[in-house]
Amino acid sequence: MANEPNEGKKFLDSVHQFFDQAASYSRLSPGILAQIKAPNSVYKVSFPVEIEGKIEVIEGIRVQHSHHKLPSKGGIRYSMQVDEDEVKALATLMTFKCAVVDVPFGGAKGGVKINPRTSSVKTLESVTRRYATELIKKNLIGPGIDVPAPDYGTGSREMAWIADTYQTFKYGETSALGCVTGKPVGQGGIRGRAEATGLGVYFGIREALGDSELLEGKGLNGNTLEGKRIIVQGLGNVGYHAAHFCQQDGGVIVGIAEREGGIYNENGIDVKEAFRHRSEHGSILNFKDSKNINDSAELLEMECDILIPAALENVIHSGNAGRIKAKIVAEGANGPVTREAEEILIKNGIIILPDLYLNAGGVTVSYFEWLKNLSNVRFGRMGKRAEEASYLRLVNAIESSSGKSMTAKERAFLSQGSDEISLVRSGLEDTMINAYHEIRDVMQQKNIPDLRTAAFLAAIEKIGVSYESLGIFP
Ligand code: GLU
Repeated sequence: MANEPNEGKKFLDSVHQFFDQAASYSRLSPGILAQIKAPNSVYKVSFPVEIEGKIEVIEGIRVQHSHHKLPSKGGIRYSMQVDEDEVKALATLMTFKCAVVDVPFGGAKGGVKINPRTSSVKTLESVTRRYATELIKKNLIGPGIDVPAPDYGTGSREMAWIADTYQTFKYGETSALGCVTGKPVGQGGIRGRAEATGLGVYFGIREALGDSELLEGKGLNGNTLEGKRIIVQGLGNVGYHAAHFCQQDGGVIVGIAEREGGIYNENGIDVKEAFRHRSEHGSILNFKDSKNINDSAELLEMECDILIPAALENVIHSGNAGRIKAKIVAEGANGPVTREAEEILIKNGIIILPDLYLNAGGVTVSYFEWLKNLSNVRFGRMGKRAEEASYLRLVNAIESSSGKSMTAKERAFLSQGSDEISLVRSGLEDTMINAYHEIRDVMQQKNIPDLRTAAFLAAIEKIGVSYESLGIFP
């Protein structure tokens, strides 16, 4: 896990090596490639916060990796392991992630050195508001500048505090709520944002499973999730929702790994119940009918079809990669597989669905939220009549061409899509499908052996076009 010294540096090195490998296929000039790779700005700040009567100095950082599109975008991480290299690596990934799913943002990321699990709500609120203030002071946050979102250790509560702090200082600014995404629905958030990353992970896995050419000879029967054995590491926002949607589509969750240990049941674990069990008991261990696995790292190496690392970076490294038995490693987390580990996995015929594609659902729906904030409209509210009229025309056309009346179920399917959550989910689904095929096309055209290199290359080419057309100032 990213709690050893140098883990941040290892992560950044891996991201740079992935970039270099993809760049070797690019038509772009070395100068443009160097500009794409370099983080544009790093802002480090230390500020005092009073915690239980004592003053403590808290360290925060915000890295804006790219400005070829504005605003820049990326989450804020709360963890004692936050370091500059780690945040740089995460900001870099955001640049490519946004390009892969055609979300018109630059890449950024922030971090605050604080343990959210042992800090009181009061402390977290003071730290969040002060960190936001530091960014506001330096003009490093705003709907057209840089827009944070949740990441490891933060959620909608922190985003609401940031939005409120921003609005306090920028009182009356139009679209001020677009300064941050991942807010609660009642505070300018969007329905479907909380589960977006996990749902996107599911759409990505589903798409890959339907790709018979990619899976040829991999020993995966059938092209759907039905009966596929899945192990998920991390039952946080990403892991929980990814596991939930995979299970809903017939996947069997055989193992769940968490900080305190893991559980295994070859007949399948009910994800919702396991989540409830962990909330009630403070531990995933001792879940009914499941075997305890005391060292959760062991679970990564157990027999399964799909392994979803959905916690932190560097969890699959040169030390354990050779023992991974999954046929597909689906990167719910950012950077869970190191560069050296990737080589070993590929040599062993394991397919990696790379983070910059697979977990891009979060930022995709953040984009929808930002658009909503900028336009001050609730999706699904406008044009209801026109929508109903076009629905009726569609039903008529289908019924007259087939000569049969549609069933209630078929009609229900056609009529979905009018409310916000359906629009968000279908927009996310289209995005994940289109991006998958774009990456596969690049892979085939350039004869690239793996999805990560192809995803990086697809992104690099798009960003390169932006930089070329922007020119160099002055
Ligand atoms: N933290 C998320 C990520 O790593 C979401 C970023 C966003 O929505 O801006 O992709």
